[in-house]
Amino acid sequence: MAIGGIWHETNTFATGLTRYEDFEAYQLVRKDGLIERYIGTNTELGGVIRGATDFDLQPTLFAAAVPSGTIEYQSFIQLLDEMTELFQEAMPLDAVVLALHGAAVVETIDDADAYILAQVRKIVGESVPIVATFDYHANLSDDMVRSASALIGYDTYPHTDMADRGEEAIKLIRHFLAGQRNPICAHRKLPLLTSPLKQQTDQPPMREVMQKLQDLEKDPTVVFGSVAMGFPYSDVSHLGASVIVYAENQEQADTAADSIATTLWNSRQDFQQQLLSVETCVDLALNSVEFPVVIVEPADNIGGGSAGDGTAILDALLKANARQSVIVICDPEAVAVATQAGVGCECSLRIGGKTDSHHGPPVQASVTVKAISRGEYTHKGSYMTGCITSMGQTALVESQGVQIVLTSRRSMPFDAEQLRCLGIEPEEQKIIIVKAAIAWKAAFGKIAKRVLVADTPGVCAADLARLNYEKRPKPLYPLEQSATYFT
Ligand SMILES: [Zn+2]
Repeated sequence: MAIGGIWHETNTFATGLTRYEDFEAYQLVRKDGLIERYIGTNTELGGVIRGATDFDLQPTLFAAAVPSGTIEYQSFIQLLDEMTELFQEAMPLDAVVLALHGAAVVETIDDADAYILAQVRKIVGESVPIVATFDYHANLSDDMVRSASALIGYDTYPHTDMADRGEEAIKLIRHFLAGQRNPICAHRKLPLLTSPLKQQTDQPPMREVMQKLQDLEKDPTVVFGSVAMGFPYSDVSHLGASVIVYAENQEQADTAADSIATTLWNSRQDFQQQLLSVETCVDLALNSVEFPVVIVEPADNIGGGSAGDGTAILDALLKANARQSVIVICDPEAVAVATQAGVGCECSLRIGGKTDSHHGPPVQASVTVKAISRGEYTHKGSYMTGCITSMGQTALVESQGVQIVLTSRRSMPFDAEQLRCLGIEPEEQKIIIVKAAIAWKAAFGKIAKRVLVADTPGVCAADLARLNYEKRPKPLYPLEQSATYFT
């Protein structure tokens, strides 16, 4: 059984292309290096390795980049060629498991995940089962469904069940290899597009949808099902939410998929999130009696492909002298200046707002350099547990009591170690800013006494009407309130 994958959540609104070196900088491993890197981790491949101890595993290539702009064509083809060559070498094969995202977009290939599946299918032939995992934010397409024998999506948001889904992929491979009748698929695409803010699977409205899915999976004729909410920042024709169910026969698959799709559609009005102005957020946070207060900035969600250098909240914190607040900003230039100055020294920095004009202008500040580090930490929370993340050369600076973590690489707030590795204890902070939508809860959800969601501009704007779509399907609710859906 060969395993591999190319994983990317593509924000087609983000500035700049995602290149080969962006995969190298995040996750790019080949052959035995793949096993070494993911064994024991809470990742899809970690789960595959855990579940497949009695298989002769042929690791090929796995590449992932932090969500970012459209993937450069040449870089994608180079990665895909490397991976497919290793698949060729591994032939003959009985089975394939791929870890994909489901929202990858390449310059001239809008449905890159379907393209990957089709290329691997060409190599292994029609009879070999290909099971692929995908993210809850996948924009599933009929082409993906056709090229894979089965698609398994995460059931959690924040995403914490990656290894479980990888292990489930192995269970399904066993099902295929046992010569049982292959499960039959029903895929329902809904004219529905929601911002990630209200998609948490343990909160309404999704809690009810996921509960329904779990109940249906108890039916012995239903093999399994998934919901993909879609990634609203990929402007593609297959944009939007999907329900996918595999069952022993078409009727069962259709009935189950329709039932979940109807529940999801009927809850469409409950996905609106209240947004507050930046000034209101900072004001409420400073006047809170319980701490820490988390101010969420979804528009600059690094995990959704944004630059992570938005300055609107930093500016407001500095103006308010918000002591014991902490914000992470990606700005390699500012890191270099702070590093040059050295720990304990004061310097003047132009911080953030350098990637594009969507996230506020750079902020000028006099700072004291508190720490300089290589910016590496091991995930100890529930997300990517055991994996090492590198923020690149990192500087902690302070201005007006505001602690500013300057990173060289865009670094998602998915684990409290992101701050602890610099000596910042999250529990002791008054205000923590997170450039994220929901996934930050894996890091600070348990300690947050209050959560405020800020309305700022950006390529991950929570208000989807702020985005200039060209390719998306129409109508999509809520952009077109007139959208209808019948099963
Ligand atoms: Zn996701």
